Amino acid sequence: MKEVIIVGAGIIGICCALELRKQGCEVMLIDRGSPGGGASSGNAGVISTGGIAPYPGPGMLSTMLRLGFNRDPRVKFHWPHFFELLPNLVRFLRHCNHESYAKGVTALSYLLKDAVELHRELLEESGAETLLNDTGWLRLYRTEEAFAQTARERTNYDRYGVPYQLLGAQEIRELEPDIALAYHRAIWLTRTPSVRNPEKLCLAYFDRYRSLGGRFSSENARQLTRKGNQWHLATAAGVLETSDVLVCMGAHSNHLLSTIGLKIPLSIERGYHLVYPPAEGKSLARSVLDAEQGLCMTPMDTGIRVTSAVNIVAKDTDPHYDQILNLVPQIERIFPMSKRAADKPWMGRRPSTPDSLPVIGPVRAHSGLWLALGHQHLGLTAGPKTGKLVAAQMLGKPVDNEASAFSPDRF
Ligand SMILES: Cc1cc2nc3c(=O)[nH]c(=O)nc-3n(C[C@H](O)[C@H](O)[C@H](O)COP(=O)(O)OP(=O)(O)OC[C@H]3O[C@@H](n4cnc5c(N)ncnc54)[C@H](O)[C@@H]3O)c2cc1C
Repeated sequence: MKEVIIVGAGIIGICCALELRKQGCEVMLIDRGSPGGGASSGNAGVISTGGIAPYPGPGMLSTMLRLGFNRDPRVKFHWPHFFELLPNLVRFLRHCNHESYAKGVTALSYLLKDAVELHRELLEESGAETLLNDTGWLRLYRTEEAFAQTARERTNYDRYGVPYQLLGAQEIRELEPDIALAYHRAIWLTRTPSVRNPEKLCLAYFDRYRSLGGRFSSENARQLTRKGNQWHLATAAGVLETSDVLVCMGAHSNHLLSTIGLKIPLSIERGYHLVYPPAEGKSLARSVLDAEQGLCMTPMDTGIRVTSAVNIVAKDTDPHYDQILNLVPQIERIFPMSKRAADKPWMGRRPSTPDSLPVIGPVRAHSGLWLALGHQHLGLTAGPKTGKLVAAQMLGKPVDNEASAFSPDRF
């Protein structure tokens, strides 16, 4: 029986652990915190089947220059980290061409195409079906100009079968009558559900894994060493030995990988959220995105979770809470809210690669080392499929050719 240690119990580590356990592996999942407590707990909760466009693309250079000057509320670049971020920026720019973009769209649509069905299966077997809100995702545009900029995205949706409807101002009002701001246009992604509590979803999958005999230990992974044909994983509590290690530590992955001289080109895209109870008598039926402000509002069981876009850093520094706090007047203009639940926003770290594709698979230079990380804005969506890919690769089962796009050896 194959024995695997999985480091990191976010949505990715949990989905991999569950799938490997289901396929008969002896799995030990470890995390220094609680399962599902990292980026996986505080995200916007969207099962984003339409997220098939990689960020680097033709024409991105001018967009980047605008974003670089921090004039766009959706992205804040941390200038003091410029030199540390530079190598990844250069890699990112190398992918800003038609060929890379087309390859990225093909790879991401492969990764995401059955995300809803795979989550549905896991939710059902975990007894947590009610966490799914199947009313679609509404991307809102204030102006015709902003809507026109989505032409390339809509072409991708058409080509890869992502269902959507275009709505005008009146239809938006009929669908979401309590939205206060008058939007001009919307794209309603009808097969893009959201989750009522991403942390509960992780815990439901984790409990399912435990019910199948999967093991968990609270450990801080510090160092990897290869001894003979075994991996030794040093933690704060001692040393664990195994033939196969799967690293799923999200934005923290390089801390451990650097101990064997491996460095994946990861940048950290921090994101923030605030939670508001809706104002008396008001409700939001589905997750909505104000595309120009990068504000996503998802109805959850704790209230309306408002997430803001991206704060690019090379390593941890003090949170830039102002990125979302400055948007509070906008938030309150968009939807009538009661007093927000906490003054201090939540912050999480999206692990992002220069080509916008996650890193899934074996590392050729290190036998028995596997990676499942770098899921950027799509980790919640792609967790179950990542688990399936990793399990097939580890157990020597057939894997679709498309999966080679995620190979760790591409860097
Ligand atoms: C604001 C925001 C909104 C988002 N919205 C969406 C969305 O709507 N849809 C979507 O699909 N995705 C979304 N994402 C992205 C998604 O949340 C991430 O891609 C995903 O959570 C990454 O999962 P992970 O398991 O790789 O990392 P994490 O969830 O961060 O898990 C990594 C785990 O590794 C553990 N760890 C770290 N270091 C160690 C160590 N030394 N020893 C042991 N354990 C360790 C951590 O404790 C943590 O539990 C969003 C992200 C943010 C920040």
